[in-house]
Amino acid sequence: MEFSQGTLRTDPEFATARIFDTTLRDGEQSPRTSFSYDDKREIAAALDSAGVDVIEAGFPVNSDAEFTAVRDVASAADTTVCGLARVVEEDVEAALDAGVDLVHVFASTSDVQIEDSMHASREAVIERSVESVERAAESGVDVMFSPMDATRTDPDYLAEVVEAVSDVGVDWINVPDTCGVATPGRFAELIRTVKEHTDARIDVHTHDDFGLASANALAGFEAGAEQAQVSVGGIGERAGNAALEQVVMAAESVYGADTGIDTTAITGLARTVEERSGVDQPANAPIVGENAFAHESGIHAAGVIENAATFEPGVMTPEMVGAERELVLGKHTGTHSVRERLREAGYDPTDEQVRAVTREVKDRGADGDEITAETLEAVAAAHDVDRERERVPEGPA
Ligand code: MN
Repeated sequence: MEFSQGTLRTDPEFATARIFDTTLRDGEQSPRTSFSYDDKREIAAALDSAGVDVIEAGFPVNSDAEFTAVRDVASAADTTVCGLARVVEEDVEAALDAGVDLVHVFASTSDVQIEDSMHASREAVIERSVESVERAAESGVDVMFSPMDATRTDPDYLAEVVEAVSDVGVDWINVPDTCGVATPGRFAELIRTVKEHTDARIDVHTHDDFGLASANALAGFEAGAEQAQVSVGGIGERAGNAALEQVVMAAESVYGADTGIDTTAITGLARTVEERSGVDQPANAPIVGENAFAHESGIHAAGVIENAATFEPGVMTPEMVGAERELVLGKHTGTHSVRERLREAGYDPTDEQVRAVTREVKDRGADGDEITAETLEAVAAAHDVDRERERVPEGPA
């Protein structure tokens, strides 16, 4: 695609990107969100059929209901299902009992969290992490270890922890930017450093406190991470996690990498999670927001009608994510959108009628009116615009 030159590389920074979805775990930890058993099963089924590599279904030790939901998701899903566990024996046992394929063990490694959240010591954290990883590994499941708050952890101590759990057979090291303070450059450097201390596969977990979660996840891939933890709509603790739709579409469309995700399922997934979580996406949310593929301004809409790549990324279309393009009428509308929208609604306007309808639409839009299909119909009627079928065909099309 000629128009994409300058934004697409032929030698992408990474070729594949594994997607670990934590909508049902970190996503559920969104303030004021809780998923019912049915919510969890429905979201898990949708994630499974969309092709995510891992579904983190929950925190089995949390409650009997949580245990049951994780257990049933694990037995129903085709893909890998993960359960979370603190470095506490009963947590690891609950995850194993739930029948997950991957146990995700985490412990704080930053001094602030070791002291004021875990109330432990650096030595105790290493000891308990090693014990928990060892216990999960000996049961035959895959084990992921997260040094929580890695981006605020003393680098020497982080290296020590990573080496200790690697020595007892951890399969994955997840590098969590728990409080969202990473930047893409610094995070990439941290990933490269962690890789020097382990042979385990690398996964990243990023938060959006500064709006950098997706950028940091992608920086992780650039630095050699194989997998990123994401949630649908980016829901999660505080400002949330890296959004599945952003990481997947940037990886696929901008980097040219393969995620294995059926991207056409993305919009449907986002709507399901909005409904079940009660967290609505803002209109200007990337990919899944109401405005993500909508155009109002005259110049943009006219360009898009001729060739959508003029004012859209070109490498990503609404069809690719299961959405639809929308020409919104309002204050900034031009004649091209009005003609297109009238034709879609079955009218056959003259040029003069298009200009008259456009003027009225712009005036109404400037007054703050929403120009719905009904409004357009009323305006068209007021200007005596003919219905297509009522006109005598001028000849073969
Ligand atoms: Mn988190």
